[in-house]
Amino acid sequence: MSTNLLMQFTQALSQKTIRVIDLTQPLQASTPILPLPPDFGQSWPFRLEEISRYDERGPGWYWNNFSCGEHTGTHFDAPIHWVTGKDHAHNATDSIPVDKFIAPACVIDVTEEAGRDADFLLTCEHVERWEAQHGRIPEGSWVLMRTGWSRHGASSAYLNLREDGSHVPGPHPELPEWLARERNVIGWGSEGVGTDAGQAFSFETPFPCHCHMHGANKFGLASLANLDQLPPTGAVLITPPLKIVNGSGSPCRVLALVEG
Ligand code: MN
Repeated sequence: MSTNLLMQFTQALSQKTIRVIDLTQPLQASTPILPLPPDFGQSWPFRLEEISRYDERGPGWYWNNFSCGEHTGTHFDAPIHWVTGKDHAHNATDSIPVDKFIAPACVIDVTEEAGRDADFLLTCEHVERWEAQHGRIPEGSWVLMRTGWSRHGASSAYLNLREDGSHVPGPHPELPEWLARERNVIGWGSEGVGTDAGQAFSFETPFPCHCHMHGANKFGLASLANLDQLPPTGAVLITPPLKIVNGSGSPCRVLALVEG
């Protein structure tokens, strides 16, 4: 065994004592986009346009143009995304210090509760019960809400739109500020289309996760998948967004490193 930490790490990868889990949903035209009320600007869906495919347009090569909103599919939310985070230094996809893109994760499993109630909200009390079992959330950790929601894929059950909007589980209005202040987490991750609950537009503080996390210069991850393959603690996430200058977020290939 090498005494060099990085050599030990790559050996563990090749021996599969450290495994790499893909937490990313496929990015394609059917990737769900949350429609906003018609008065607001709208995000483009993902679109792929072939430039050439070993044909008269380019005999030896295949490539595509693509377009989409920054917040499409599995993606990273930067603090500048929300008005509460607009004045932080280094708050955009190109300026966030890159060491922030590797961080441990705590995974809170509420699959049962979310399966019973599409409007389930994760409370501070629930997180404290989780901590009693797994230990205090370490500073600088991601908190990932495992709901099983990613199983809906690109079906209509994913956005779960009704007359009164989307119904998807998320954090209780009090939780994001508590996690940011009391636990100093690096951010919040969810299996839903966004980091907030589907009904969060109607909360007393609308979109409390966006408001308080980005207000505290924290990050977000949305549309995560395969959270069932992560342990409650001990996984490490790799989450670099594209280096879009002054970007508010970006689709992201989110990977997790897991021991054993
Ligand atoms: Mn987003």
